[in-house]
Amino acid sequence: MAARTIDGKAVAAAVRERVRGEVAAYEAEAGRVPTLATVLVGDDPASEIYVRNKHRACEEVGMRSVHQGLPGTTSESELLELVDRLGRDDEVDGILAQLPVPDQIDPNAVVATIDPRKDVDGLTPVNAGLLAHGTPGLVPCTPAGVMELLRHEGVELEGAEAVVVGRSKLVGVPVARLLLAADATVTVCHSRTRDLTATCRRADVLVAAVGVPKLLGAEAVKPGAVVIDVGMNHGEDGLCGDVDFDAAAGVAAAITPVPGGVGPMTIAMLLVNTLQAARVRTSSLSA
Ligand code: NAP
Repeated sequence: MAARTIDGKAVAAAVRERVRGEVAAYEAEAGRVPTLATVLVGDDPASEIYVRNKHRACEEVGMRSVHQGLPGTTSESELLELVDRLGRDDEVDGILAQLPVPDQIDPNAVVATIDPRKDVDGLTPVNAGLLAHGTPGLVPCTPAGVMELLRHEGVELEGAEAVVVGRSKLVGVPVARLLLAADATVTVCHSRTRDLTATCRRADVLVAAVGVPKLLGAEAVKPGAVVIDVGMNHGEDGLCGDVDFDAAAGVAAAITPVPGGVGPMTIAMLLVNTLQAARVRTSSLSA
C-alpha cells in the first residue's frame, strides 16, 4: 500500500494562519507588532531569495520586518557591531543573520553575538544549551518544523524508536533532542555509522537530514514507519530529498515529499519563534 503523503505546505499554511491571529492579539495587547531584523552580507542570489521570502512571510502575518544589507567586503567587527546594536534595539524582537557569510567572517562569532532572547534561528550556544538541558528557549526552525509535522500527523512518540540520520547543529542534533524530550528512544546516525540501513530499519520514526540525494531506499524503512525527509538536494532533475521517495512510499505509512514537506515548515516556525521572542521580551519589559 502506498504511504500517505504528509502535506507540509498545508501544515505550514495552518501554522501561519494561527500566527496571524496571535499577532493581531499581541498587537491589541502590546500596542506594537513583533519585528524581525534580517542581516545579509554580500549578494549571494540564493540568500537574497531566502531573506526576501522571510520578509514576505512576516508581512503576510502582520509582523514588521527590517533589513540590513551589507557589502561583501564587510569586516567581522563591523558585522558583530551591527548584530550587537540590533540586540540592544528595543524595537527588534528577532535577529536573523543569514548564513553563509563571506570567508573573512567567522559564522560562529556572528551567531554567538546574537542576543539569545532574539535568536529566532535558535542557534546561539545559550539556546542550544537550553535545549540540551531539557528547558528549550528558542528552538531551531527546521527541527521545530519536523516536530510540528509529527504532531499534526498524530504520531505517537512516547516509547517509539526514532532514528535521526545526521548530527548537525542546525538539524540532526536538535531534532534528536526534541524527539528525546517527547519520550522517543532516539538513535543518531552519521557518516561513521556502521550499518546505516539496518539501524534505520528499526525506526518507527525515521528523520533524514543528511544532504545526500536518495541515500535511504526501501530497505532502510521499517514497514509502517513515518518518514520525515529534511534533505534538500539540487540535482539535474530538480530538488530531491535524502530518501528515495517512490521506493520508501511503498513501505512507509506516511512520508514527507521534497519539495512540499519539511521545507515550508522552516519559515512558518521562524514566524512562531519571532512571536514567541516578542511575547517573552514584552512580558520581561513590563515585569
Ligand atoms: P550537514 O551539516 O552537512 O550535516 C550532514 C550530516 O549528515 C552530518 O552529520 C554527516 O555526518 C551526515 N552524513 C553525511 N553523509 C552521510 C552518510 N553517507 N551516511 C550517514 N550520515 C551521513 O547538513 P545539514 O545542515 O544538517 O542539512 C542536511 C540536509 O537538510 C541538507 O540536504 C540540507 O539542504 C537540508 N536542510 C533543509 C532545510 C529545510 O528547510 N528543509 C533546512 C536545513 C537543512 P558527519 O557528522 O559524520 O559528517
